[in-house]
Amino acid sequence: MSDRIPCINQRCRRTAPASKYEPDTEIVCGKCWRTLPLLIRQTDRSLNKRLRSMKRLAIKPDRADQAQRLIAVIEEDLHRNWEKMRDYFRVPDMPEGLDAFLAEVGL
Ligand SMILES: [Zn+2]
Repeated sequence: MSDRIPCINQRCRRTAPASKYEPDTEIVCGKCWRTLPLLIRQTDRSLNKRLRSMKRLAIKPDRADQAQRLIAVIEEDLHRNWEKMRDYFRVPDMPEGLDAFLAEVGL
């Protein structure tokens, strides 16, 4: 299991190759991604876009300090948004039989 990363949705059995990601990275598979609320997806996209442009800016010596501070803020926002995704997929406490039944019917 160490060479594969599971999707953060515990009801989903998809995985991604660990070699493609940084250590301790969490992933959400494409299918689960599409089930997330639009606002969460849009927030993730725009924050990642901003993060990429800040990382480009951080290379320039005269802007590096400012860019690094903004990168820290953006990464914090990304982390908070990721927590929302995790909450969205959090498995509610259910009797074991019901859980298995729901998995069987694809819910
Ligand atoms: Zn998934």
